[in-house]
Amino acid sequence: MANKKEVWTIQTILNWTRQYFLDKGVENPRLDAEVLLSHILEKERLYLYVHFDQPLEEQELSAFRTAVKQRAARLPVAYIIGSKEFMGLDFNVTPAVLIPRPDTEILVEAALSRLRAVENACILDIGTGSGAICISILANLPTAKGVTVDISPEALTVAKGNAAKHQVEDRLIFCQGDLFTPVKGQRFTAILSNPPYIPAGDISGLTPEVRQEPNLALVGGEDGLDFYRRIIQEGRNYLVDNGFMAMEVGIGQAQLVAAMAEATGCFKVKEIVKDYGGIERVVVLEVLYV
Ligand code: GLN
Repeated sequence: MANKKEVWTIQTILNWTRQYFLDKGVENPRLDAEVLLSHILEKERLYLYVHFDQPLEEQELSAFRTAVKQRAARLPVAYIIGSKEFMGLDFNVTPAVLIPRPDTEILVEAALSRLRAVENACILDIGTGSGAICISILANLPTAKGVTVDISPEALTVAKGNAAKHQVEDRLIFCQGDLFTPVKGQRFTAILSNPPYIPAGDISGLTPEVRQEPNLALVGGEDGLDFYRRIIQEGRNYLVDNGFMAMEVGIGQAQLVAAMAEATGCFKVKEIVKDYGGIERVVVLEVLYV
């Protein structure tokens, strides 16, 4: 691409990039080429299809080349373009935060279906990252408030930017710290979390893209369950009496997490929700009256 003299059009550059990405092992080569190009041209993807013959200007080409190099080095598209759609909202992302996944929308939907009936709900989002979970809930529930906790100050900066972007920052508090440490003595309607849940030994087997996401957001100790142990152990102290907890889990973890929660005697397992691939993805726990 670098030395070619002829004019590059939207169509010829997309074809070239698709093949280049394919050779580099990128999973969706054509789609990624289109997303990157439409980002650089500041247009919708559809625009590309109705302007196939449009020639690219030198500065567009140069910006696209940089993006193509990054993607070929297996940087996720969301980090290159700096954003990811989640629950119909556009979230800013940087390599300091996990990229929001469609699976996590299952967690948000499960929480929303319970919270819609509650006036003035107060939500605690543990390990908020980009803020996607809490912010999308607040954007859907005008009377709800939230507290987000993350151990990473860089992640909280991203989350704050997203809260402002979606105009919920006046209903959201940001706390830096480890799990419940910054919210001692407070009680919430719901505790929500997509904690790090990948077993430490599995990280090397993940795709190059996932390995560029923060380890802090991925690794859940030796068996992947460390954060569930701590959240379940301590969680009851931070919930109101009719409160609930909803957590995303990894493949094969739902029943283990459910058993862990029941063993405390503080929770009943209200629901285990499957994701679009049929995998048990979200565990919903309710406070048990005794
Ligand atoms: N869902 C992420 C993955 O793809 C893991 C996120 C997490 O550990 N919570 O692997």
